[in-house]
Amino acid sequence: MPRMNRRRMLEALMALMSSPAVSMKRARLRREHGLTTYDGAGSDLRNIRIKIDGRNAAVLTIAIHELLHVFMEQQYNFATLFSEELEEAIVKSLADDLGDYINNPKNERLLAQWARAVAAKMGE
Ligand SMILES: [Zn+2]
Repeated sequence: MPRMNRRRMLEALMALMSSPAVSMKRARLRREHGLTTYDGAGSDLRNIRIKIDGRNAAVLTIAIHELLHVFMEQQYNFATLFSEELEEAIVKSLADDLGDYINNPKNERLLAQWARAVAAKMGE
C-alpha cells in the first residue's frame, strides 16, 4: 500500500463505506455521536454496523470517525496494538484533521461528494 496521505485515506474510507459489508444508519445514542460494532478482527471483520447520531455534531465528521475505527482495525489490527483510550485518541485526531480538510473551501467538490455518499449509504 502506498504511503497514506489525506486523499488516499479518504478514498480508502469511501471504498470501505461503499462495501456491502458495512451498514450505516442514523440512531439515537446516549453517550456518543457514533457507534461502531463488528465481529471478527483484523482483515476478517464481519457484520460491520455503524450508527450515527447527528443531533449534536456533523454527520459527515461522525461517519469519517467511525469508518476510521473500522479501517484501522482492518489494516493495522489496532485492537491488538492499542487500548481503547489510545485508539480513540488516534482516531479522533485523524478524523478531526480529515474533517478540516474536507471542510476547507478549496475542497468544495470533495465535501459535496462525501455528503452525497454518506446520505445515500444511510438511505436518505
Ligand atoms: Zn471513536
